[in-house]
This record gives sequence, structure tokens and C-alpha cells, in this order.
Amino acid sequence: MAKSSKHVYLFGAGLTEGSAELKPLLGGKGANLADMAQMGLPVPPGFTITTEACAKYYTLGRDQLFATIREEVNAAVKAIEKATGKTFGKGPNPLLISVRSGAVASMPGMMDTVLNLGLNEETVAAMVALTGNERFVLDSQRRFIQMFGSVVLGADHDDFEHELAQVKQTRGVLLDTDLTTEDLGEVIQRYLGVVSKTTGRAFPQDPVEQLWAGIEAVFASWNNPRAIKYRELNDIRGLLGTAVNVQMMVFGNTGPRSATGVAFTRDPSTGENKYFYGEYLVNAQGEDVVAGIRTPQQITLAGSRAWARSHDVSEKERKANFASLEEVMPEIFRELDDYRQRLEERYRDMQDLEVTVEEGKLYMLQTRNGKRTAAAAVKIATDLVKEGLIDESTAVLRVDPAQLDQLLHPVFKKGVEAEAEFLARGLNASPGAATGQVVFNATDAEAWNSQGRKVILVRNETSPEDIGGMVAAQGILTARGGMTSHAAVVARGMGKCCVAGAGELGIDANRKQMRIGDKVIREGDWISLNGSRGIVYLGELETEDPQLTGPFAQIMALSDKFRKLGVRTNADAPEDVRRAVRFGAEGIGLCRTEHMFFDQPGKPEGRTIAIRRLILVAEKVKILRRAVAASGDAAEQAKLRKQLEAPEKQYLQALKDLLPLQRKDFVGILRALAGRPCTVRLLDPPLHEFVPHEAREQREMAAEMGLKPAEVKRLVESLSEFNPMLGHRGCRLGISYPEVTEMQVRALCEAAAQVKDAKAEIMIPLVGHVKEFTAQKEIALRVIDEVQRSRKCELDIKIGTMIEVPRAAVTSDKIAAEADFFSYGTNDLTQMGCGFSRDDAGKFLGDYVEMGVYDYDPFAVLDQEGIGKLVEISVELGRGANPGLKLGICGEHGGEPKTVAFCHNVGLDYVSCSPFRVPIARLAAAQAQILQPR
Ligand code: PEP
Ligand code: MG
Repeated sequence: MAKSSKHVYLFGAGLTEGSAELKPLLGGKGANLADMAQMGLPVPPGFTITTEACAKYYTLGRDQLFATIREEVNAAVKAIEKATGKTFGKGPNPLLISVRSGAVASMPGMMDTVLNLGLNEETVAAMVALTGNERFVLDSQRRFIQMFGSVVLGADHDDFEHELAQVKQTRGVLLDTDLTTEDLGEVIQRYLGVVSKTTGRAFPQDPVEQLWAGIEAVFASWNNPRAIKYRELNDIRGLLGTAVNVQMMVFGNTGPRSATGVAFTRDPSTGENKYFYGEYLVNAQGEDVVAGIRTPQQITLAGSRAWARSHDVSEKERKANFASLEEVMPEIFRELDDYRQRLEERYRDMQDLEVTVEEGKLYMLQTRNGKRTAAAAVKIATDLVKEGLIDESTAVLRVDPAQLDQLLHPVFKKGVEAEAEFLARGLNASPGAATGQVVFNATDAEAWNSQGRKVILVRNETSPEDIGGMVAAQGILTARGGMTSHAAVVARGMGKCCVAGAGELGIDANRKQMRIGDKVIREGDWISLNGSRGIVYLGELETEDPQLTGPFAQIMALSDKFRKLGVRTNADAPEDVRRAVRFGAEGIGLCRTEHMFFDQPGKPEGRTIAIRRLILVAEKVKILRRAVAASGDAAEQAKLRKQLEAPEKQYLQALKDLLPLQRKDFVGILRALAGRPCTVRLLDPPLHEFVPHEAREQREMAAEMGLKPAEVKRLVESLSEFNPMLGHRGCRLGISYPEVTEMQVRALCEAAAQVKDAKAEIMIPLVGHVKEFTAQKEIALRVIDEVQRSRKCELDIKIGTMIEVPRAAVTSDKIAAEADFFSYGTNDLTQMGCGFSRDDAGKFLGDYVEMGVYDYDPFAVLDQEGIGKLVEISVELGRGANPGLKLGICGEHGGEPKTVAFCHNVGLDYVSCSPFRVPIARLAAAQAQILQPR
């Protein structure tokens, strides 16, 4: 842990001590402030207290930490005073400061910030005397009391809002900026009342006390519930804590020559680089832009015109009320535009900037790599390659594989929007299509979602407390807020469809309804959002798969250029196979045959009846056949044969019925694969899953089989198992009932014989002992030979096994000597290796992850230390015994980026995953190769 003795680093005003390289210590914001200052950009001076100090706050406690850093902080404040000619906490020229969080990984809005710190009666008076602008000073003071009051002193944010609303109402004004100096005086008095009511003491006047309380609040906010949740959701781990940035305040709210802005160097929604993308407000502080209280204006003229078009605002009105920074402050715009280019070139990535203009002077408050949608991420990465700013491998590393998911999800079907009932227009804050039932708060969103319902979260504006509900919702709709509002930024990060700032919505969250014109939408009503266009529709609109062209196709092509790992898919229906092939699958790594034994809804083909017939008599047939073989007495044998006759007839009939259905399925799949390999797994699940459990079904089955319902019931009960996951499943079925294996292999071989270029592979499931494998392989080889003879063809069919039983993993040398390939069934390997039931572990695994026993749910992310070790042992033993052995993975982990990297590193040949995860696996495999070439 922390070893350095230096905890405070100055920046700005020629004093800069930090640099971009010190990001682990200074956090993202602190490191980049230092870096911008080094570049000569106008950064208000300040200092960063390190992330190590934050770690010490948690290990040593506040008092010991503060004793350790007190002198350094005091000296840094003095240095800023000296550089600026201002004094902290005193007139005639008081230094006001901001205290802001800034971890190594950016966590927008999750931790605390206090602005305008250092105001008290004395400094307020001095500031008024100095600026001659009492309104500005009081405006700053009321912001400070509200922020410090809620962040540091724990007063309720809404109590302040309530007081502000009351004053506005009595004065008959809408906007904060319409409040007079006198009104602000009243707001301040009311705010002070809120503080003393909540805390039982007066608002602290001592600026030094304010400063330390602010620092502590930021450190403490590292572990507030929403920050913890954000890190959990974004898999941010292993950080020391947040740094604290203490910086001279500059003011965007001193009047018409001042402004505040948030800008992206490219469009964070689409990645377009058409113009400088951002929003600003004259006479405002930064929080106003994101709070959604006023409508922010665009940075560029082109952006402003585009905005006006999409909002039906006339050019005249736009110019009068919503003019761009380029028009209003052209020199500032040019300076900022220059910094935009320099910063992009320096960081070689899209930047998210925070700026303030104070009385005609521009200040840079932040630059960081901007959060972006997946569409923007691939567009920006591929554009930066074309612009020569980054190379191809960097571009591949720039896109988060998990984020790609966003691009693969449905958009509205062509034409349905034209037919749909338009409800409202807002900003296209985060692209995609979403449809769901309206809920009006985050708690309801989570509750409804847990019942399996699709919801759209509708809020006036979202705040960080809503994060859980935003995750649970299909899409987010807000009445207020711009493209940089909380809802917009967070939704884009999550890849959630979001329409923000739909001003026509009259939301009454208490009554759980909203009014749009004369329409009332209530909780539970269906609406649909087009986040790419910013449109809200009434009703549930149909969606379809997106196009996978343009930058997406380019990043995929680049991925394929780098990756060494093959990517196949887990699919068992021709339609899924075609989709997976469109997504780039190079074959099927796991075709589960179970579903082929059930009739599809509305398509009775006799599958269900056939498999039930088979299973209900199979055991009896097996026992009687053995008895016949064992009997030495001719009369008894004849009697047994007689008993065998009827069930055996049923058994053989079932197999005969199933064969053509299976063959047809395999033909469809092999055709869809067009020459790509297809690993077909023999029947796996527990038998009792197939049999009829309901009385009605049992009666039907009894009639089919000429048995009594009670007899069917008894047979069903006889198949029940205490622990089906470890019961009569996998190759154990084929061992007991070899004719089932035979039928499946025959169906596959006959299908392969009739499909051009078919590449079928037979996979034997749940093998634990090599003898299980060889017994099944023998059957398969015999049938292959028979089909070759009868069809007069040559079939090259590989026979391999899943490695999903720990015993198989540690005896892989023996099995590999017999097998052509292994596919790691990490679902069962995890179940049996960790001893967690796949069916029951959900109840407690969440606690395990929370406690840190496992870093992730081991059924979602491979437990590399344990189950991964089994895989490694198996790879080594298997390849040792059979150097030509092909190795893959087909458990759910096969499409999870961290597991894909593991598979690359241990030398597997391919991963196999669900169709939607194929592009994710392709990209993850490329990244693995770039980071660890093999
Ligand atoms: C596995 O166990 O990892 C596997 C792919 O098989 P299933 O999930 O069908 O048991
Ligand atoms: Mg399995």
C-alpha cells in the first residue's frame, strides 16, 4: 500500500508538480489538470490530494490522515494564494475553491463535489465590494450553502429545492436567473434555516473548517452506495480510492460575459466528427448545464442549427434565445476549438471537456476520455485510424467488447414507426429502440423488472440515486435535461436507449401518470422510445436485428486480422445458426439436441410423444432384454420374450419416429452452416424432464401407448431423481440405452451424407471415465461405417467429448488418446468443480460475490484460479497424449471477454458462445492476442 510521503501535488500558475504519468496517484482529473497546465492551457491553479491519501483515510482514519497531510495542504493553499493574489477566507480579494473527486477510472456524478467553498459573512462582503456584483455573490453563496449543506452536512437536497421553489413561486418567476438580489437574500436565509434545522447548529463560518469537511466528504463519497454500485456495474476494481482536487473557483455566473460549458470533441452518441459537440450556458455554473433546469445552447453554429431543426425552433428564435458560443463569444470559441484539437491530438481519443468563461477569459476545468456509446466507440476508433492518430491494434483495444452488445440489439422494424402513434419528441440522448411499460420511479423499475416485465423509466430528470432503476429499465425517458444531463450520460454509458428533455411531458410522479397534451399515460401503459431520433411513441412497437455494416464491420474485420482464437456458436436451430454466421461465427461449437425432441408450439410433429414413449419403456426394455439373455431356461425365455414384445415394439417405434425428425433438423442446420463445422452433442438432459407430469398429459400418453394412466404415472414417478443434475443424463443415457445414441448418430450421418460440404462432429457429453467415451465411440464408429456403406459415401466425422466432469479433466491424457477433440463444458465443470448446484446456487452466490469470496459469479465469468486450473491441467494432459487434439470451450463462459482471454492464453483453438456474443468474442480474442501474442 501507500508508501510515498508526498500527498499533495500542485498544478497551474506555473507551479505544476504532477503529470499525466502520475494518474494512479492523482486520479484522472488531477493528472489531466496537471497535464493541461504543462501544455500551457489556462487551468485555474489548485492541488490534488492523492488516492493514497484516500486509502489512508480508510486504513488510518480521518484524524491520523489529516495530521499527516495538514502541513502539505496548508502550504498548497498558501502557494495558490501567492500565485493568485487572493486570500482564502479573507478579503479584500477572497480565494474561493472547489473541492472535487477524481478517481483513476472516471465515475461521472457518483462521488461528491463542493463548489464555492470559502464563503462566509466576511468573504461575501469582500466579494461584493470587490466585484460590485452582489447578485452574483449571493447566487454563489446560495449554491454553496445548498451543496455544502447536502453533501457535507447531510441536509436533504429536496428541502433546499423546496425553499427555492417557494421563493420563485411567491415572486412569480420561472428561472433562477430571474431572481433578484433581494430574492436571493431570502433564499439564503431559508437555506440557512434548512441547515440549522437538520444539523442543530449554525452553518460553519470558518473556511478552514469548511475545507477539511469538504475534503473528508469527498474521501467518504468513494464508498457511498452509488459509487460502490457504479464500480460493481462497471467492473472497476483494485483502486486505492479517489483523489481530491482543490482548485481556485472561476465563475461562469458573474454576468453576460461569463459562461459555463461541457463539450465533447466528437459526438458521443454517434462518434461523428462533423463539428465540435457541446453545450453551454451564459451566466451559469457548471451544474446548471447538466441539471437540466435551463435549456443548454450549442457550442458551434452548425450544431446550433441542427439542434434548432430537430426542435422545430425557427432560425430567428434560435438566434435570439439559443445562439451558439461561436456566435456569442467568437474569440472564446476559437480559443476553445484550438484546445479541442490539441487535446485530441495529445490524448489520441475523444475528449470530454469542462470549461468556464469568467468575464471574457476561458478556463479549462477538465479533460478526460469521453464516455460514448458503442456505436460511437467503433466509429471513433476506426476514424482515428484513418486520421493516422492511432494504429489498428490500438483501435481494437479502444472498444470494450462487452459494450458491443449495444450494437447487436434490435432496432424498430422498418415501417412500424410510420404507423405508430407519436407521443412526444425529446433529445436523441442514447441510441437504439426500447419498448416497455411505463414506471415513474427507480424502485418500481427494479421491482417490475424482477417480475420479468419490460419497463421504461420515466422521470422529470434522473439523479445518481436512480442508477438501479436505470439498469433495470429497457429505456429511459426524461422531461428535463440536455445531452449532457445525468440521464443522457449514464444511459449512453450503459448502452441503454434514452430520450431526454422531452419538455411536453407533464409528469406527476406521485400520481404515477403523465400528461402529454390531452393524453394521459398511466403506470403500466406501453410506450416505445427511439433513442437514435429522440421520439416517444404510444404502444409496443416491433423490433428487429440491426445492420452490421460500416465501422462495426471494420472493427470486426480488424479483430479477425489479429485474433488467433476461432469463434463458433452454440446454436441448435437454422435461424439461430444464420444469425450467428452473420455475426461471424465460424461454425457450431455446441449443438444441443435436446430441444429437437419437443414439438415446437403450434407445430405438432409427434416429437414429444415419440420421446415420451421411448423414455417410459426404455428401462423396462433394458431389464427384460437382460433377463432374456441371462435366462438359461427355454420356457422362461419364451415367457420373458413375450413380456418384452409390447414395450420393445413401443421402444423401436419411438426410435423409428424420431430418426427422420432428427435427420431433418440436422439437414437444416448443416445447410445453414454452408460447409462450416458442426459439433453435435448427443442427448444430454435428465430423463424426467421429458416425461409428462400433469394428469392430463399422462392420460393422453396412456391412450397413445395402450396403458392405464396409473401405469404411466408410476413410470413417471420411477424416473424421478433426487439430484437430476448429477443423475441419469449425458452419456449415461447412451450407456443405458445405446439405441438412442445409435439413432442420433445415424440421423447425423445421413444428414451429412446429403448436405454438400457438411462437416459434422459428434460430441459425447458428461464423460468422466475414458470407458464411457470408448463405449459410445464404438457405437458411433459402427453406425458411421453402416451409413457409409448403405449410402456409398465417405464421411469424415470427428468424435470428441465434452470435458465437464472434473474426473475427465484430470484424466484427460487417457481420454485424449481416444478423442479427436475436447470441448470444455464449463457450466457443468463449474457446478461439479466448485460444488455449486446450477439450479440452486443463485440463492447464495450473490452473497459470495459481495463478500469477495469469488470476484464474479463463477457461472458467468470463469473462476480461473480453480476451474481454470482444471482446464489448464486438462489441456496439458490432453495435448501431451494427442498433439493433434482440437480444443474448444462451449460453456456460457465462451462469450465472456475475460474468459475468452483466458482461453487464448491457455492455447484453446476456439470458443463457442450464443449468437449475440459472437462479435464480443471475436473482439475479445483479438484484444487477447494484442495484449499477449501467442
Ligand atoms: C456445459 O456444461 O458447460 C455445457 C455447455 O453443457 P450444458 O450447459 O448443456 O450442460
Ligand atoms: Mg453440460
